[in-house]
Amino acid sequence: MSCDVTLTVPCMDCGLPAISVRCKTCCARLRSGRPWERLKHTVFAEESHCWICGTWVNQDLPQEHAKSRTVDHVQALRDGGPPLDRNNCRLAHRGCNTARTNQARGNRTHTTLSVDISTI
Ligand SMILES: [Zn+2]
Ligand SMILES: [Zn+2]
Repeated sequence: MSCDVTLTVPCMDCGLPAISVRCKTCCARLRSGRPWERLKHTVFAEESHCWICGTWVNQDLPQEHAKSRTVDHVQALRDGGPPLDRNNCRLAHRGCNTARTNQARGNRTHTTLSVDISTI
């Protein structure tokens, strides 16, 4: 029982059809540029722990490292979250950020993840 119809809504920024509140292009645009760079550095300077898992973030790790620093949007940009609001931006590990994003996507597409917690 599934339907393959993807609902599109106009992007809140550019008005083009998108599958979420804000289209990918606008999300990417909002993650580049001076104001965002500045905000990121504010978060890096003010926070020391990952808001998702609660452990310390080593800000010296190389970017491609799973535990490297990223800035996560508490309310995702594609869900209409304010891109440059300090209160919507928190320090997170790259891995935690990605896992959270994937989980949100999973919920959206009704993917069922079975995890055996007893092995953790
Ligand atoms: Zn857009
Ligand atoms: Zn973390």
